[in-house]
Amino acid sequence: MTKRAIIAGAGLTGLSAAFHLKKSGIEPVTFEQNSYPGGLSASFIKNGFIFDFTGHYLHFKSAYAKDLAFGLLGGKFNEVKRRASVRAGGELIDYPFQENFGQLKDSSIVSACEKGLKDRKPSENYGSFREWILGEYGKGIAENFMLPYNEKLWQYDLDAMLYLGTTAYTPSSKNDAKKNGYNASFYYPSEGGASEVAKALAPLAGEIRCKSRICSINPSARSVTVNDNIVFEYGRLISTMPLPELIAMIPSAPAAVKQAASSLQYTSVFALNLGIKRAGISDKHWIYFPDKSLPFYRVGFYSNVARHLAPEGTTSLYAEVAYPGGSVIDREAETAKIKEGLIRAGILEPKDVILAELPMEIPFAYVVYDLEYKKNTSLIFDFLCSKGIVSTGRYGGWAYSAMEDALLDGKNAAEDILDA
Ligand SMILES: Cc1cc2nc3c(=O)[nH]c(=O)nc-3n(C[C@H](O)[C@H](O)[C@H](O)COP(=O)(O)OP(=O)(O)OC[C@H]3O[C@@H](n4cnc5c(N)ncnc54)[C@H](O)[C@@H]3O)c2cc1C
Repeated sequence: MTKRAIIAGAGLTGLSAAFHLKKSGIEPVTFEQNSYPGGLSASFIKNGFIFDFTGHYLHFKSAYAKDLAFGLLGGKFNEVKRRASVRAGGELIDYPFQENFGQLKDSSIVSACEKGLKDRKPSENYGSFREWILGEYGKGIAENFMLPYNEKLWQYDLDAMLYLGTTAYTPSSKNDAKKNGYNASFYYPSEGGASEVAKALAPLAGEIRCKSRICSINPSARSVTVNDNIVFEYGRLISTMPLPELIAMIPSAPAAVKQAASSLQYTSVFALNLGIKRAGISDKHWIYFPDKSLPFYRVGFYSNVARHLAPEGTTSLYAEVAYPGGSVIDREAETAKIKEGLIRAGILEPKDVILAELPMEIPFAYVVYDLEYKKNTSLIFDFLCSKGIVSTGRYGGWAYSAMEDALLDGKNAAEDILDA
């Protein structure tokens, strides 16, 4: 039996795993279903506009990940100081809401937020995400931003979601010395799009076979079937595919594991990227929209993050709409709703000329920490571990994580294999 290491998926996690294996003398083969590497950190050029999978900005907690990314790009990053807003009650105020609600002209909202902060009852032990929001921020902030925004983003009952500690999506005033949230500044490549990191990593990651979809796995034979017809044997397998899909590809998985995998909850995103023939539509990097009468939860402006992402005299933007994982959306109807919503929100004008348009579906966008999350994921990972399969990355590890984590997850997966 061959001892080769196979990696499923050439997103940042798979590329990083391959890069670290190769550095240690193992030649991996990476199978990627798309025609390009990069996964969600890829970029696309349309009519002179560079679009990412919506905002993809780097934040570093780990010196290793920062050195790796900077080394790959020869330091070609700009550090960008965030300009983000929340549109609440028709007004734009600075983000984070909980620090800046005092900017609202509507004094009834301001006093409700202040009263909520006074009356809130923080706890060490919250039973759900909703309880956490109410306990940490109080009723006013909860009702005017945190609850509607999170309901819109997660498309899931917040009473049925766990609170697992402060994470990137809900900056907590408690843990935030600067009161600016986790992403007060971020890094973006000074040339090209977010894909520059994956583009620099790919040539150092050994053999990558694109247009190669892994469709079934036989852990006993240690083999994968690619594109329905080619069988490859492996010594070790690292998977970065979404966890429910990975388990569905293992016919021999026990019924309880299959059941757990099909019970995993997630949120999908439809994003509309637009290039508009008008400069200076906004000075923000992105705006949050808790208002449920508008379809999108966030709109971001690529051309404000890096001028080179759009031609002179234009603006480029994305609008993100969330829908329950696994459901089907009507792309055309959604696109029309977004454009109409952008006009209602005062971002687009009816006479605006659209020079580029790129809709994107992200079926697995956000992992939902539902009440069965821990039980289901433990069962699945115990099974995979018993079969010698390392499943990692944002969707392989089934976690809320970022590009920095993907670089580290890939490194850790390579080390797991080397140590085994
Ligand atoms: C809307 C949104 C905004 C985000 N914004 C940010 C941000 O601002 N900053 C940040 O740091 N992170 C951000 N992230 C997170 C970031 O995209 C991920 O952390 C990172 O890209 C995950 O990399 P990955 O390799 O684990 O997964 P992916 O990028 O999903 O890569 C997995 C790869 O596996 C391939 N694959 C799947 N199934 C198969 C198969 N059967 N056979 C072969 N190949 C397969 C896929 O095609 C894909 O290329 C955002 C994510 C989303 C959804």
